[in-house]
Amino acid sequence: MIEYRNIRIALLGAGSVGAQVADQILRHGDELAARVGAGLELVGVAVRNPDSARTADIPQHLITTDAETLVRNADIVIELMGGIEPARTLILSAINSGADVITANKALLAHHGPEIFDAASQVGAQIFYEAAVAGAIPIIRPLRESLAGDRVSRILGIVNGTTNFILDRIDTLGESMEASLQMAQDLGYAEADPTADVEGFDAAQKAAILASLAFHTHVPVDQVYREGITKVSLDQVQAARKAGYVIKLLAIAERVALEDGREGVSARVYPAMVPLTHPLAAVHGAYNAVFVEAEAAGSLMFYGAGAGGIQTASAVLGDLVTAARRHVIGGPGVVESAHANMPIVPISAISTRYNITLEVTDAPGVLANIASVFSTHGVSVESLEQKTVGVEVPTATLVIGTHVGIEADLAATVDALAASPVVERVSGVLRVEGL
Ligand code: NAP
Repeated sequence: MIEYRNIRIALLGAGSVGAQVADQILRHGDELAARVGAGLELVGVAVRNPDSARTADIPQHLITTDAETLVRNADIVIELMGGIEPARTLILSAINSGADVITANKALLAHHGPEIFDAASQVGAQIFYEAAVAGAIPIIRPLRESLAGDRVSRILGIVNGTTNFILDRIDTLGESMEASLQMAQDLGYAEADPTADVEGFDAAQKAAILASLAFHTHVPVDQVYREGITKVSLDQVQAARKAGYVIKLLAIAERVALEDGREGVSARVYPAMVPLTHPLAAVHGAYNAVFVEAEAAGSLMFYGAGAGGIQTASAVLGDLVTAARRHVIGGPGVVESAHANMPIVPISAISTRYNITLEVTDAPGVLANIASVFSTHGVSVESLEQKTVGVEVPTATLVIGTHVGIEADLAATVDALAASPVVERVSGVLRVEGL
């Protein structure tokens, strides 16, 4: 039997995820080695502050603050520091030293993916990033390998556990947005500054990664349309449930047929009404799920923990075994592909449905007036519900669901409704997805 030398692993970061990865390698090294066919040796763990308390028992002699030297002496570098710098420079340095890289850093991949993938392909190195989207859930490898022979048509993902936790509490407990956010912060799901989660930046980074992978096209994160959940109200959530929907923050990546016969890619993040019958409606708490529609495979759903140190470490260790096996077997491995190079479709050109809530004066002729606004913009109404409130000055709340329309027409309809003299207020607009 051929004896392989140990595969040297450098770990950058020993925080929530990194400490768990170190712990698993140190405690289950023999089992991992048996799966790989060679020994795995953790040669060092780079941190910022060597005296910080760790959640795993990492021998002090492995801890270093000299990440640069560490990455130049490893076969596989696992980056779990987060942030753009020094993670970017260290990963490029690792690649140029001939190492394969594993990272969970969605921000880095969404902003600098092409630079990193290009550098890797020049030297035949590989980048693994299963943990960068939806924590423990296997979704990168299914898209990159299992579905490589299929044509993905659409991905709908609940990829931010914090916002799902918040929206779920509003829906199931009738809490306000403020109270749910406070609870998310108290439980450690949300940061003290929750902007990245509640404004959809985190989900947009994941949408960029998923869209790029699924459609073999580089989708820059600044071309992902983004709306957060901060404008969603308890009233909207309750009205949605009464109508048979639940509101979820969705990351959507979609293949779009263009008028000139070509295909484009749409990547977008917004809160949307999802029918209660859709599998994504059953994703509660801080869980994540990614619903994939492919031409041959049909619908697939991947569900599980989207974050957490030990859970995310599972995805990192899966990448580690794959990367280490390649060191044993050799060969080029799976590379990133951007061959389709499809145009990115702006939000104005996508097709969706709107659910519009209006406050109107309750007087004869109002409905006809509103109907004419819809028909002027070529938008067809699918449902209309009216509730009259007030006695002396009767006003009505109208909830109007549209058929599928082009976003630009739907948005123009809302603008025209807001400007109409019979409309007192457009009190809510939500897209409907998953029908
Ligand atoms: P974390 O708890 O903040 O840990 C970061 C670690 O990196 C710490 O050990 C820190 O050192 C070290 N570090 C930071 N800057 C450094 C620098 N300049 N030089 C050397 N070491 C440095 O982060 P985390 O939650 O484990 O997240 C790590 C990565 O995984 C991020 O990209 C994150 O987006 C991703 N991720 C996390 C989760 C999750 O549930 N936490 C889920 C999916 C993906 P000190 O300990 O000395 O400060």
